[in-house]
Amino acid sequence: MAQIMDGKAYSKEILEQIKHKVDKLQKKPSLAVILVGDDPGSQIYVNSKEKTACELGFVSKTFRLKENTDPKELKDLILKLNSDKNTDAILLQLPLPEHFVEQDFIELIDPKKDVDGFHPLNCGKLMTNSNPYAISCTPKGIIKLLKKYNVEITSANVLVIGRSNMVGKPLAQLLLAENATVTVAHSKTKKLAQIASKADILISATGINGLITKDFVKNGAVVVDVGIFRDENGKIKGDVDFEEVSKIASLITPVPGGIGPMTIAMLMENTLELSLKNAKF
Ligand code: NAD
Repeated sequence: MAQIMDGKAYSKEILEQIKHKVDKLQKKPSLAVILVGDDPGSQIYVNSKEKTACELGFVSKTFRLKENTDPKELKDLILKLNSDKNTDAILLQLPLPEHFVEQDFIELIDPKKDVDGFHPLNCGKLMTNSNPYAISCTPKGIIKLLKKYNVEITSANVLVIGRSNMVGKPLAQLLLAENATVTVAHSKTKKLAQIASKADILISATGINGLITKDFVKNGAVVVDVGIFRDENGKIKGDVDFEEVSKIASLITPVPGGIGPMTIAMLMENTLELSLKNAKF
């Protein structure tokens, strides 16, 4: 039976360490969160980020804009926050409503305040191993959790399922930087089970509940489930058939309680790091 990689417990530890550091700071880190529209999932995420930031003693401001907001209004808000000395970190909650071209707004955020690490400058810095101002929170949290459980990443065959700008691509870069041999699979990949069953570390980020059955998993593999799927009763589930797969994996993350809390902890860590870097400029 696999050992659980407990992201909830570890994220609590990380948050306590952050709080300890923040308590000693005279100028508290400040996070501005922008939410456009009424997406229920986004509302929940934003509330939870705001709550955690406040518990840590951060200055947290949430800007809630209506679904039909004029893109010019969002542009003006981002530019205002870019030049506001009291804002260290800016988070633009995605997805934006359909009439926004998301990438245009990601690129408007000052890379030094880009807490998600989505700005092309930060993505490029990640790709070239040249100190991005911030690294995308979910991939950063995955690496941190693997290390906490002493998973050997160097030379491991790692399969990342999903190639999004938010998760799959930055995760592949981080794994390469850790000297893993990385394969990235996606919706057009053929014979996925066959490829997956060779992986020492299998990381699935698709949002397709139950995609990863035991046929995808090598005996003793490490399995990380990033997927979030809400069933008809509102219960959160992942990509992995946990019951079956946990019988053959060596380590596995649960959903919920795995990568979700690690992502929030990394958001807080990024906010603190940006505020410390900004204080030096
Ligand atoms: P996305 O929709 O942008 O990307 C999904 C990826 O899955 C795509 O690259 C697609 O090619 C791939 N895919 C879809 N069907 C597939 C299939 N049958 N076989 C192989 N690949 C397939 O989503 P995203 O933003 O990358 O997020 C992925 C999942 O992770 C979602 O469920 C999201 O909610 C979740 N997520 C969780 C956290 C967290 O904190 N736990 C953070 C970010 C995203």
